[in-house]
Amino acid sequence: MAIQDLAHRARAAQERVVDFCARLVRAPSMTGDEAEIAALVRAEMEALGLDEVTTDAAGNVIGLLRGGSGPSLMLHAHMDIVDPGDAARWTYAPFAGQVAQGHIWGRGAVDDKGCLAAQIYALGLLREAGVLPPGDLYVAAVVGEEIGGLGTRLLVEHLRPDLAIVGEPSNNTLRRGHRGRFEFIITLHGRSAHASIPQEGRNPHYAMSRFLLALRQAPMAQDADFGATTAVPTLTYVDQTSSNVIPAAVTVHLDWRNAPGETVAQARSRIEGLLAETLEPDIRAEIRIASREVCSYTGLRRTVEHAVTPFWIAPDDPRLLAAQSAVAEALGHPVPVEVWPFYTDGGFLHAVGVPCIGFGPGDPAMAHVADERLPVAQLVEATVGYMALALRLSQPRS
Ligand SMILES: [Zn+2]
Repeated sequence: MAIQDLAHRARAAQERVVDFCARLVRAPSMTGDEAEIAALVRAEMEALGLDEVTTDAAGNVIGLLRGGSGPSLMLHAHMDIVDPGDAARWTYAPFAGQVAQGHIWGRGAVDDKGCLAAQIYALGLLREAGVLPPGDLYVAAVVGEEIGGLGTRLLVEHLRPDLAIVGEPSNNTLRRGHRGRFEFIITLHGRSAHASIPQEGRNPHYAMSRFLLALRQAPMAQDADFGATTAVPTLTYVDQTSSNVIPAAVTVHLDWRNAPGETVAQARSRIEGLLAETLEPDIRAEIRIASREVCSYTGLRRTVEHAVTPFWIAPDDPRLLAAQSAVAEALGHPVPVEVWPFYTDGGFLHAVGVPCIGFGPGDPAMAHVADERLPVAQLVEATVGYMALALRLSQPRS
């Protein structure tokens, strides 16, 4: 099918795509509570006639449109949302799924249900048009993106396509990556004493101060597009509740956002190096990565580390250039390539060798705020974009 015909197909399906997106918004789906939306997603994939619809152990719903022997491609978006907060701050109730003033309103409309609706309809409309794609096309609706990434961590254990399109809001421009995030917990152990006789103790506060000031001065990895690695102390606490006691230990959490190319091991050795330079011999340091236990609506339970690697693809990668020309041709205007300031599940895909390109409808600034809303025009445009990406990127490369 000619790429120009895609826009016509998507425009003809506007009412159905908008209705589906509004129904997704009406299914509240906080992380860990995605059973209702997963059933909706599954039913829609089946009604659209995808060749296979499966639900894995984490509760991710995966649709497949079988194609030829070209590269396999996965469209990826998440089903879970963050808390809408006080409903009084919203023009329309956050789960009303109101369509008004050319927008779909509600928690999740932008992050990430517009992407989800557009991706599912992209494959559904190709099926309805009787298109045989050059390669297998998957659409993965995952759980748990907002807290811990359980869905995609499990997904990559059984599905590793040749390329993934990460659906997160980008105003329908392409994104070639983002920084990662590691959360380190650093504890410095000294020796406790009564605060009236400080010479008897080894107060770890001074050591922590020296370390944090050295960290602030330390040169960090730089990337022209992605920016610099940043390391920011956030939470801090001691092992004491009494204010007249020198604590034996002080702990700080470091929010470490790494530029592409820097691994968690490299970040850790930077921290170890700074500690070695700044600490006196009688202060002992302990470094670990923060972790938490997460549980999906299916009952799958795992302890996951707070470590998301960046994803990035080179600006001159032929797949990125093909994506750019396909979307521009389908939408009828130039499409810039940028980077995301926030991280996505793309990091888990990249970490296992699945290259990613980001693309999705909606303004990223609308994510996680009251009055989150998605322009209907962008939703339809994104559906066209995903169809174009699916067809172009599953073509065999010479
Ligand atoms: Zn998101």
